[in-house]
Amino acid sequence: MQLNRRTSDISTSVLLAFNSQARALAASGRDVINMTVGEPDFDAPAAVQEAAVAAVGSGRVRYTPAAGTVELREIIAGHLTETRGVPFEAAEITVCHSAKHALSGTILSLVEPGDEVLLLRPAWVSYFEQIRYAGGVPVEVRGRPDHGPDFAALRAALGPRTRGLMLNTPSNPSGYVWSREEMAELAALAAEADLWILSDEIYRRLVYEGEPNPSPVSLDPEARARTVVVDGASKAFAMTGYRIGYAAARPEIAAGIARLHSHLTGSPNAISQMAFAAALREEPAEVERMVQAFDERRRFLVGALREMGLETPLPRGAFYALPDVSPWLDERGSAGFCEDLLEAEHLAIVPGGVFGIDTHVRLSYVLELPRIEQAVERLGRFLAGRPRRD
Ligand code: PLP
Repeated sequence: MQLNRRTSDISTSVLLAFNSQARALAASGRDVINMTVGEPDFDAPAAVQEAAVAAVGSGRVRYTPAAGTVELREIIAGHLTETRGVPFEAAEITVCHSAKHALSGTILSLVEPGDEVLLLRPAWVSYFEQIRYAGGVPVEVRGRPDHGPDFAALRAALGPRTRGLMLNTPSNPSGYVWSREEMAELAALAAEADLWILSDEIYRRLVYEGEPNPSPVSLDPEARARTVVVDGASKAFAMTGYRIGYAAARPEIAAGIARLHSHLTGSPNAISQMAFAAALREEPAEVERMVQAFDERRRFLVGALREMGLETPLPRGAFYALPDVSPWLDERGSAGFCEDLLEAEHLAIVPGGVFGIDTHVRLSYVLELPRIEQAVERLGRFLAGRPRRD
């Protein structure tokens, strides 16, 4: 017995490898600061926890429709109508086991073999693998130095096989939040080239300043018709382990994804559906408190990185900082930098190479401020002792 080609070709996540190495070091008694993870260090809101416990007690924990319960789909449609400013209906929603599951379901439902899908670099690592697994070809397009979209590069990447584009604002790993003008320019380009847009809006609630996060669906009916929105409970409600999210699209697309999932994964977790409904009915007060804590950490971390001489655009959203460490890299690139840092200072961060930007490294600020202060001290010491190439 052996794995098929498609599965053998899936790369092992470097990110998870660093995370496990950090955990192993910590288990051996070292004081490791782990800034690799991409999940809030807060508990899910009380109302969510209560709804989950009540769900178990209610006995109504059975299979649900593959697209999710009608009740939750209606709540999600109402939430989208309010937050994206355009009406949505339950028939346009497919509830999934997570945003990741919604992304893979969408990609498996849209991509034909050989289709090219544009990825804006730096891009989240799972996009590459999901597109490849579906038989598509990920085409990386570099962004501007501030990690915003470079439309000249995007246009240059268009070809006869280009069918879709993956969008992620606020972005993992850069925290860049698109402007409404940039979104309008993208929608115009997608219309000209007849592309579908997969808009991963999982960090939408985590925007700390300026305009709120724009969505292509808010622009005009045409942009809305060619877009699938993916969102979920993990980041905004600190519900990573609940594994619940959704895809929103034209009814025939949403129904197609549900049909696929009915055979692959059945129905989404009934307990998590009820917990997610509690989070969406009325935003729990804990959410705003969490956002404020992330904001405070963001300002501190980015300020400290800049003081160290690291070029770091201020991220408007998500919970990552992405400094440029190119002067300190050797021939092993960002991975070598992170390995040496973990070994010397027991500080775990993620090499930018994972996201297609080998000159940078990613630090998650999902740990308490005093720990981030210690991390900054360790990084400063590490840089002071490392030869510069420039
Ligand atoms: N999309 C992006 C850009 C992410 O960073 C993540 C999680 O790290 C996800 C989607 C997945 O979220 P979920 O926990 O709902 O699968």
